[in-house]
Amino acid sequence: MMNLNCKKDNNELQLTKAGVNQSSPSVLQHDTTIVSANGGYVLTFDDCFIDEWYDLLPLLDSFNAKATFYISGFDHYTEDQILKLKIIQEHGNEIGYHTLNHYYLSKYLKNHTMAEYLRNEIDLGVKMMNNAGFFPTSFAFPFGDFTDSSTVALLTRFQSVRTANGITNMFIRKTRKTNEFNAYGIDNAYSPVMKDVFRSLKISKENNEPVVYLSHQVIHHYRENGYAASHERLIEIIQKAKEFGVPSFTVSQAFRISPKQ
Ligand SMILES: [Zn+2]
Repeated sequence: MMNLNCKKDNNELQLTKAGVNQSSPSVLQHDTTIVSANGGYVLTFDDCFIDEWYDLLPLLDSFNAKATFYISGFDHYTEDQILKLKIIQEHGNEIGYHTLNHYYLSKYLKNHTMAEYLRNEIDLGVKMMNNAGFFPTSFAFPFGDFTDSSTVALLTRFQSVRTANGITNMFIRKTRKTNEFNAYGIDNAYSPVMKDVFRSLKISKENNEPVVYLSHQVIHHYRENGYAASHERLIEIIQKAKEFGVPSFTVSQAFRISPKQ
């Protein structure tokens, strides 16, 4: 089947400049508390590779590992893909939200307002998902392109927001009191260092801090380039986590929030 669900060309994806937004002061003030008590790892997958992700289910299930799929372009999915997404969810995985058109937020805001972004890229797509029986509570910025004020706006609609991606420091979070977090890219394009990935699993356990990995397309075998991780790489991570006794979480399991008392 032709893959018509992704409007953008995957080659357009670019690395977020590591740290580009990380020095800006935090303005986040939320009446929420992270209650995640244990270290664990979170596999996240972005965009609209529904068919590849569906094919990943036997692998995930065989290890009892869960993943979170941040989906974009919901207005372009076929009925078959929506059904696959439902099955992915029924297997204990989470379906998160990743906008309709996958814009660079900073570019979008040069010609539009944040209110337009929220209306056209967020609320419209979420409503479509709601109508199809999906109720995403986790959000990820396309390209990891975000601002503090946009993060605040998104956190009024979602329980957690994934911001920068493709970073090398896996544990950057502005404060433990906010459910805003970064992700470490494990696609070939990010040139992940597996030694560091394994180390992050240990740190996650020692610090009771979830560690989040980011991938896009899933491929069966290693290849040189692309925003894709192979089944082999995912198995390596999952097996190492098992060896270390580090559990697998979905995003909403790792970044649960409780109302302020
Ligand atoms: Zn994306």
